[in-house]
Formats: sequence, C-alpha cells, structure tokens
Amino acid sequence: MADCIFCKIAQKEIPSSLVYEDEQVVAFKDLEPQAPVHVLVIPKKHVESVLALTAEDKAMVSHILVDVVPQLARELGVDEKGFRVVTNTGAEGGQSVKHLHFHLLGGRSMQWPPG
Ligand code: IMP
Repeated sequence: MADCIFCKIAQKEIPSSLVYEDEQVVAFKDLEPQAPVHVLVIPKKHVESVLALTAEDKAMVSHILVDVVPQLARELGVDEKGFRVVTNTGAEGGQSVKHLHFHLLGGRSMQWPPG
C-alpha cells in the first residue's frame, strides 16, 4: 500500500535491519527497541490489524505464530528464559503503524500489566 512504511520495508524500498524473510513474511529490528531483543514480524501483504484479517489470512497468521516466531525466539536466544509477543490494535491499543505486526520482545524480565 502506498505510504505504508512497513510495506516499504517489506519491499526493500526503505532500509531496515532484516533478521528473517520468506515468501510471506519479513522480520526486522525495531527502530526504538524496548528490550534487548525487539523485532517486528510482519506479513508482506498489507493488512491493517488483526481486525482486518480474513479467512484467507489464516495460513499466514498460523505461519507467523507457529513457524516464524518460535524460530526467531530460538535464533535470538530468548526461548529458554521467555519472551513476549504483542500485537497492538487501534488507537487505545497503542498501534502507531497501521500494518499488522507482531512485536517479539525478550532479553529482560517483562512486567504485567503492560502500560
Ligand atoms: P506499534 O506502536 O505497536 O504500532 O509499533 C510500531 C513499531 O514500529 C514501534 O515500536 C516503532 O519503534 C517501530 N518502527 C516504526 N518505524 C520503524 C522503522 O522504520 N523501522 C523499524 N521499526 C520501526
């Protein structure tokens, strides 16, 4: 989608610190990391948020959560101590970029409830 920063990252139109890529997904380091490990896992396809997902996206979401996130957690060394996966949704949910993304945060002890 024009003017979507994450579409531009997925299409390599703007640079990012890529940590993973396949046909459907890219993952890259967050520009303002909130933990020692903080990467964003996104579909290449533009989807605004979980609210915009449709039945045809089930395989993509499953791929992200079943395959990509656990693989990255292991590769980034946060699988043993634990990590957090977050997808902020909408204004009050704290979503600032309107392209579905899963934050993978780890490398420090997480607090609950989040702010
Ligand atoms: P949200 O606030 O949950 O929508 O998360 C958006 C995230 O994208 C924030 O953590 C930002 O730091 C991050 N971000 C925004 N622009 C870029 C970029 O160009 N590269 C990497 N991360 C970005």
